[in-house]
Amino acid sequence: MELADGREVMAKPRGRLEIVQARAEKDWLKEDKLVFAHHVSVGDQVVLSEPEAGQPVIEELKPRETWLLRRSGGRYRRRPQCVVANADQLAVVVAPNPEVRLNVVDRYFLAAIQGGLEPMLVVNKIDLDPKLPESLQLTAYRDQGYGVFFTAALNGQGLPQLAERLAGKLTAFCGHSGVGKSTILSALTGVKLKTLEVRPDTLKGRQATETSRIYHLPGGGLVVDTPGVREFGLIHLTWLDVHEYFADIATLAQECAYRDCTHTVEPECAVQRAVKAGQLAAARLLSFQKLRKESEVGKYEL
Ligand code: GDP
Ligand code: ZN
Repeated sequence: MELADGREVMAKPRGRLEIVQARAEKDWLKEDKLVFAHHVSVGDQVVLSEPEAGQPVIEELKPRETWLLRRSGGRYRRRPQCVVANADQLAVVVAPNPEVRLNVVDRYFLAAIQGGLEPMLVVNKIDLDPKLPESLQLTAYRDQGYGVFFTAALNGQGLPQLAERLAGKLTAFCGHSGVGKSTILSALTGVKLKTLEVRPDTLKGRQATETSRIYHLPGGGLVVDTPGVREFGLIHLTWLDVHEYFADIATLAQECAYRDCTHTVEPECAVQRAVKAGQLAAARLLSFQKLRKESEVGKYEL
């Protein structure tokens, strides 16, 4: 934990801490107050008690400006977990390997938007596939108005453009383990980050104990390295969230013959037509369908 004067201290919370957050601007939670899990997240502002003798104690958690919430797994499935607090932006890192899983990217983007963070995409390891910047499924993000950065962290390509975007901000980095987050962050911060060797099948157990860390950027600004996850459970997802987020598909769908078109087998489906014409990535449509289905069954209602 970093003090206002830059010194690092270890501190433990006193008992159970709770933040009662004012109702979010967008009325996406049913309660008029939003009570977060009691543990302190990376990025939180806290009040410490006077460290007289022994370890300082966290007495209070300050209300969060933004939050990236994720549904935690296992016994605590229903409980929101705050991955990072007070971040301005979320950089979702993908690469040709491990393979891009668009649905996970979209879940991160949706969670960021819901929590007040600005999402952006970082496509790393472009040295392995120089055609990536033309990929339809990735350019869709740029077309929707999000920042998309193409990098090769190993040779520094694209990093100055990314650094420019990070200056003066608190940016959380997320993505599947192995995409190159640590390599990117080591290059940007000058700090050698520990590269975790985790096999995908052991990832679930590890991520619970793996903590995020904040690093200073030389030009001002902060970055947070969050543990790689295979799945990202959303807390709350409405049909409207999905349709607003996939604005390109929603626009195309207005031309479908049926109002309730699922864009799968229907004749005269404008969305399928766009896929066949090479204007819409099939993977993007699949991700949309998956998220829409989820929002309809209300599986993710609190
Ligand atoms: P993390 O798990 O997301 O933190 O990924 P790492 O930073 O540990 O990188 C995983 C592997 O990808 C390492 O072997 C890196 O050397 C490699 N890597 C990272 N960036 C690049 C890149 O731009 N190009 C290539 N070819 N390999 C990279
Ligand atoms: Zn359709």
